[in-house]
Amino acid sequence: MDFTPTAAQRRVAVVGGGISGLTAALRLHQRGYDTELVEAADTLGGRFGVAVLGGRQVMTGGKNIGRRYTTFRRFTAELGADDYESFGYNASRVKDGRVLTLDSEKRGQTLRNIRRMGSSRDLARLAAMAARIRLDDSNRFLGSRYFSGVSRRHDRAPLSTFFGRELTDSLIRPMVIRNNGAEPDEVYPGTFGTNLAMLLDHYDQLAHGIQPALDAFAARVPVRLGTRVTGLDIRDGAVRGLRLAEGDGGTEETVAYDGVVLATPAYATAGIVRSAQPALARRLADVRYFPSTVVLVEYDRPVFDENVRALAMDDGPCSNAGSYGMQERHIVRYTYSGREGRLTDLSPEHIDKLTGEVEEKLVEHLGAPRAERVHTLVKHWDAAYSGYVPHHPSFLAEVRERVGRLAGLELAGDYIQGVSIEACARSGSAAAARLTAHLSTPRERA
Ligand SMILES: Cc1cc2nc3c(=O)[nH]c(=O)nc-3n(C[C@H](O)[C@H](O)[C@H](O)COP(=O)(O)OP(=O)(O)OC[C@H]3O[C@@H](n4cnc5c(N)ncnc54)[C@H](O)[C@@H]3O)c2cc1C
Repeated sequence: MDFTPTAAQRRVAVVGGGISGLTAALRLHQRGYDTELVEAADTLGGRFGVAVLGGRQVMTGGKNIGRRYTTFRRFTAELGADDYESFGYNASRVKDGRVLTLDSEKRGQTLRNIRRMGSSRDLARLAAMAARIRLDDSNRFLGSRYFSGVSRRHDRAPLSTFFGRELTDSLIRPMVIRNNGAEPDEVYPGTFGTNLAMLLDHYDQLAHGIQPALDAFAARVPVRLGTRVTGLDIRDGAVRGLRLAEGDGGTEETVAYDGVVLATPAYATAGIVRSAQPALARRLADVRYFPSTVVLVEYDRPVFDENVRALAMDDGPCSNAGSYGMQERHIVRYTYSGREGRLTDLSPEHIDKLTGEVEEKLVEHLGAPRAERVHTLVKHWDAAYSGYVPHHPSFLAEVRERVGRLAGLELAGDYIQGVSIEACARSGSAAAARLTAHLSTPRERA
């Protein structure tokens, strides 16, 4: 006889309290499943990087929200925390002594500035890719048909050889450093669409940060904080639960779940699935991650003006210095990423020295005023951004096939559709839809 338990009788877990997991858990909760979110840290948010600077809450991680971030915007709207303010994509760089500004609100000026950056062959190649992205939204994310073709044809060599030197240095490098924390010789052409899509969007920020959404989420969906998932409980080829360890060195317990979404970075997911599926763990461990350090400094007066709100730099460890918000131009966010920006010395003396060096550049190139520092906050991630793998579509197919062997398991995260907040939210939403389809399939009563 067929019997299908109601959704409320099914207990599901989502592992990871970043945007991938938050989206997956909210969807499953909305579909009526008895959902629990399990997070190793003591707070939700993951790489939104919620922290405190001089008594005010700030975000040290992802905070720019594209107008095309439809899945993420639906998530914040459903939680009643969708008060956005415009930020724009505004990045300037210095080329031959001139400040060139790329600003999504000023398309004509931006196109003129991009034209100064490379050969006509390269610009035609870039324009063709941009046209594909504009025509078809799926090209904004990893795994699209068009970029799978690019991957097949070009992923034998890294992105550094795809465009000429001039365009690579002046435009491509700042883009991949910003989005992947990687150098052009560390990523591949097949994943470049995700970078270009970021350049083609307009950006807003949440006026009150992500915390109101996190609070509204925790008021609806049960959350288990400070709990690390160490493995899967597998019986008869299906996931029956999770092994959980509470706090540092806490004792392990096995908790029963009918379905699980692992919404963790690839290396963490590899650790969780290793004993059940060693080959899947090895493949996931191939995904590269790159570090980043973000230093937030509050000054006694605005440092940027309204026209130039960020300066990308390629001659030193700091890759980008930008104002925290359109109005909060007295708070500067210094990002250290890329090969030279992989900081190992995070001592206050060293951070102080590095900050002083960039402050001089802002004065020299932008005529910024000499402002006094009031508060400083340093946040370092060993694995800030995914740089993916070459031949990403084959990687995805292999991962999907191996995950399919474990009924009741789904994966989400930054390595599946891309690192952007939107790509992560889409991966979470898609994982929830697949788990729902699996759990609602009628079963035979034994
Ligand atoms: C400095 C910085 C700036 C960025 N800026 C932007 C931006 O402006 N716009 C944009 O679109 N994107 C931006 N990004 C990218 C984007 O923020 C991230 O890719 C995205 O937030 C990742 O979300 P996630 O849920 O996949 O992973 P995470 O946020 O890392 O969440 C994973 C969670 O899983 C938990 N976890 C891991 N292992 C376990 C375990 N074994 N058991 C239990 N829990 C576990 C972790 O503690 C973590 O909370 C930025 C990223 C960084 C680092």
